[in-house]
Amino acid sequence: MAYDFDLYVIGAGSGGVRSARFAAGFGAKVAVAESRYLGGTCVNVGCVPKKLLVYGAHFAEDFEQSAGFGWTLGEADFDWATLIANKDREINRLNGIYRNLLVNSGVTLHEGHAKLIDPHQVEINGQRYTAKHILIATGGWPQIPDIPGREHAISSNEAFFLKELPKRILVVGGGYIAVEFAGIFHGLGADTKLLYRGELFLRGFDGAVRKHLQEELTKRGLDLQFNADIERIEKQADGSLKVTLKDGRELATDCVFYATGRRPMLDNLGLENTAVKLDKRGFIEVDEQYQSAEPSILAIGDVIGRVQLTPVALAEGMAVARRLFKPEQYRPVDYNMIPTAVFSLPNIGTVGLTEEQAREAGHKVQIFESRFRPMKLTLTECQERTLMKLVVDADTDKVLGCHMVGPDAGEIVQGLAIALKAGATKRDFDETIGVHPTAAEEFVTMRTPVAG
Ligand code: FAD
Ligand code: NDP
Repeated sequence: MAYDFDLYVIGAGSGGVRSARFAAGFGAKVAVAESRYLGGTCVNVGCVPKKLLVYGAHFAEDFEQSAGFGWTLGEADFDWATLIANKDREINRLNGIYRNLLVNSGVTLHEGHAKLIDPHQVEINGQRYTAKHILIATGGWPQIPDIPGREHAISSNEAFFLKELPKRILVVGGGYIAVEFAGIFHGLGADTKLLYRGELFLRGFDGAVRKHLQEELTKRGLDLQFNADIERIEKQADGSLKVTLKDGRELATDCVFYATGRRPMLDNLGLENTAVKLDKRGFIEVDEQYQSAEPSILAIGDVIGRVQLTPVALAEGMAVARRLFKPEQYRPVDYNMIPTAVFSLPNIGTVGLTEEQAREAGHKVQIFESRFRPMKLTLTECQERTLMKLVVDADTDKVLGCHMVGPDAGEIVQGLAIALKAGATKRDFDETIGVHPTAAEEFVTMRTPVAG
């Protein structure tokens, strides 16, 4: 049968755009549908605007620390509206770049909501198109628990477009988004509390990293409230919010920001017209080659709920394009040693196994740790300390994991990830000459294990 397209991609986010462009480059006839914004979550309400706000928040400490280097500044004043307007302008520019990338690579762009009609057919803006393969790359959406007063809460989607910086804000959650945004709001001057339901935030990260970040954020005056869960939110006559916790405590605030995970975006997608199955958590179930239970339909990125990171969606998008249209170049995505950063202030950078995961997997481990005051701070009052940690297999000498909390940890961990992926041993680290004076050199100068 002749189809309108070889590949129809639903969603022009990180994974969808990558897959569409590469498939078109391999000679396939490709269309991509986008209902909301080109570039998807990462470009519009994720990685990019978030990082710009983190940069914005970082100036507060730069101004403070500059005094130690002889600078005298007038009173600093921050204008949220300027930051948001400049951020919006940059995102608009990126939207245009994404449009050009698609059009110039020969992909047909359909702007509107796409719905599956059958395993080979999509409907968009009242038109139907057939395709040999359909790729679902519709991403995710913030998930707010169903508590009374939930309508008064915002998610990351709205946080990027607030008209004003709230004077007081409660950030709920203990994952990437909560920790990053608590740092942003605190840095920009809002009275910020982070509420997390468990004992300690960032579950799944190395224990020493979690503890160290807790200490550092507390030193900076960020109010961390653990074992705290909201029961209800009520709007007050003056427009403020009264938040009642499950332990009976009451908190007054101007904004409640939930960052409690993301669900797959499947709204009105027409999955019921196909044999596509969902897994237990509600994400699209796919095999190792991203094929769903419906042979003509594939899925990648946040909608399959494996690792919700942009570079992972990109890698999956590339793998699909190659498998379908350039099989001789196909390589499966390697989910081991995925480096990641939490852009808190200070950053977390991490790759490989945590100490807890290494022990659980049965490795006999050696732990190397270094805690120090960054050189830049020695002329300042700031008491912040950096943590670096290596988890090493005592039998093979292989470095199983690298973890850091400190300035530029996200930048530093990228290079370490290459070393770990190449199978570097602790001896390789020891024999690598440092770059002096940097913080990163500490990763090649740790000699004495702190635990075995
Ligand atoms: P998306 O990028 O979400 O793209 C899906 C697209 O599909 C969207 O544009 C959507 O409008 C469109 N769509 C949905 N349904 C339809 C439909 N029926 N028809 C047409 N179009 C449709 N990751 C990092 O690696 N680093 C970070 O620093 C980082 N920061 C983040 C910060 C925040 C606040 C958030 C929310 C996420 C962050 N992420 C980060 C995660 C990253 O954004 C996602 O993992 C990534 O965007 C997933 O890509 P995707 O292609 O699966 O989906
Ligand atoms: P995460 O899954 O990282 O964290 C969700 C947090 O919310 C956890 O602390 C979880 O607690 C808590 N939580 C879940 N349900 C509830 C509930 N009902 N009530 C109270 N707390 C709850 O999700 P995020 O929303 O922070 O981010 C989504 C994903 O986006 C991340 O996992 C990451 O993959 C990606 N991302 C990546 C970034 C980066 O690379 N820098 C930045 C931002 C996002 P518990 O641990 O107890 O389950």
